[in-house]
Amino acid sequence: MTQAVDISTHVAQAGEELAAFIARHPKLWILTGAGVSTDSGIPDYRDADGQWKRSPPVQHGDFMASQAVRQRYWARALVGFKALREAQVSGAHRALAALEKMGYVEMLVTQNVDRLHQRAGSKKVIDLHGRADTVSCMVCGYHMMRHAMHSEMAQLNPRFAALDAGHAPDGDADLETDFSSFKVFDCPRCQGILKPEVVYYGDVVPPARRQAAQAGLEKSAAVLAVGTSLMVYSGYRFCRDAHAMGLPVASLSLGVTRADALLTHQWRAPLTPVLEQAVRCLEVR
Ligand SMILES: [Zn+2]
Repeated sequence: MTQAVDISTHVAQAGEELAAFIARHPKLWILTGAGVSTDSGIPDYRDADGQWKRSPPVQHGDFMASQAVRQRYWARALVGFKALREAQVSGAHRALAALEKMGYVEMLVTQNVDRLHQRAGSKKVIDLHGRADTVSCMVCGYHMMRHAMHSEMAQLNPRFAALDAGHAPDGDADLETDFSSFKVFDCPRCQGILKPEVVYYGDVVPPARRQAAQAGLEKSAAVLAVGTSLMVYSGYRFCRDAHAMGLPVASLSLGVTRADALLTHQWRAPLTPVLEQAVRCLEVR
């Protein structure tokens, strides 16, 4: 009981402090990570200490080089992608969209590929690591919706389509079997390799997208990182740049971050109730 009181006091206080931070720096550059989407039922990769909870995701080079890696990837995605497709926006997504509506947000850069910020109503979003709901051909650029590709593969692989397994991050599933008979659906125009429009580990963020995020940072008054361990360099670098520019850098997350030493404000607390509390405080200002 005492502990429950402590947690709610902690949440209320963190929410008030966050509201004060936002009011002081109303042109926020927000960076979000997996923690924002875990309340939507999308699993994440890392624990509170920033360590891998499971085997790391597929590497870009392996995906491009190996048919066996692609068979395994797509067979598992056929099962696991349902978690991404069926995910609903969480209170954290809604609270961040509310902050934008209230005029506090210069830009929201997300490392998530689930498009839930857009579904919650955020408009100033950059999908730093791409989006999981579309695929494109690595040879000719042919572009299609991922669900259409999955339908094609389900027809080619009825046995795999009927399988079930626990859902894993990024539309993956905890499925282990012999994948060698899985038929991958290739580009209908040139038979090239189709790949989700996601920046995989080992790949780089397209320069134009990185520059757009950087330009937003230069117009902003502070950085607020939400639900990210900042372990991935493409996100961490912005916190480092902001720090070098003399901007305040704040973090709201459950665990440690790679940028702890750079942070001017840090709240280690559950995201949704703290963000909702901050929005309530700002509404009555
Ligand atoms: Zn093609």
